[in-house]
Amino acid sequence: MMPARVLVSGSPHSDESLHGFVLRMAGCNRMAGLKWVLEQLGRRSISQLTDADDRKIACLFGADAQAVEEIVVRSRWLDGAHVHWVRGQEVTRPYLLRTPRPQWCPRCLAEFGYARVIWNFQLVTACHVHGVMLLERCSSCSRPLRWQRRSLLACTCGASLQDAPCLPADSSEKAVAGWINACLSPGTTVSAAEPWQGLLAGLSLDGGMRLLYAAGLRRDAGHRVGPGEAKAGLTTLECRLACGRAADRLSRLVAKPSDEDRAHLRQLIHVPALLAMSQDGTTAADRQLARSLSEVGLGVPPIHGRLSSRSHSAQLVLPGV
Ligand SMILES: [Zn+2]
Ligand SMILES: [Zn+2]
Repeated sequence: MMPARVLVSGSPHSDESLHGFVLRMAGCNRMAGLKWVLEQLGRRSISQLTDADDRKIACLFGADAQAVEEIVVRSRWLDGAHVHWVRGQEVTRPYLLRTPRPQWCPRCLAEFGYARVIWNFQLVTACHVHGVMLLERCSSCSRPLRWQRRSLLACTCGASLQDAPCLPADSSEKAVAGWINACLSPGTTVSAAEPWQGLLAGLSLDGGMRLLYAAGLRRDAGHRVGPGEAKAGLTTLECRLACGRAADRLSRLVAKPSDEDRAHLRQLIHVPALLAMSQDGTTAADRQLARSLSEVGLGVPPIHGRLSSRSHSAQLVLPGV
């Protein structure tokens, strides 16, 4: 059954997040929180919204059904993997998204008044428009921001999200955010200011994020990625540091490292994740670059013939990677 319709109607922006759109429209209709909206949709929590709700959401808010359909994050189990699609781009690892854990740019909320879907990506820690760090904790109550709040523009404690203090982002996180935005925005291109950014050119969004994750996840050579560690989801700060490490290590890798430096990079870069990508990357370019970086760049022995079957590659994949 289709829900009733609210008084103030509107459609989402093309780069708006579905959760943000629902919260924004609830606010436009002066609803105290999302309880009524969720009741209309037959959901208990905003985090339960799925791609099955898009027609109901469009109907409820009098929105253009096509516009809502385009901002919905689709997901499906495919060959045992939980695959997502964001604006048509495939994401093969659920931990590369952080949809249930919102983050925000104070200046975007102040200037544009809506939450961007790009903030749902784990590796996006900077605003590609304003060049400031994204935030995930309220500066007033220190609690993580939640979708389950009364207003898009305020924390559950009442503090304004638009007025939260902004800090400039560093170059590596701005480059990653700019590249991910370009992947999500057909017709948008970014120039590679640093050689490591050139590695991302030609890769799928999924492939580029997997490469960055593989390169930056380990804090140091002694850091072993434990079971479930990647799946648990990283904080914005942890991802910011991971982007910086990825930029540094990939820069060293493309700069023809000495044998000693290559041996050190083999300990720093999460080689099993690279090998997994060389086997099951979503595009030929993804697989080729992962193979080239692991074999030529890092000097890891190639996986040959039958040994490169799914069962063997599965052994090389650490839990959660
Ligand atoms: Zn911004
Ligand atoms: Zn707060």
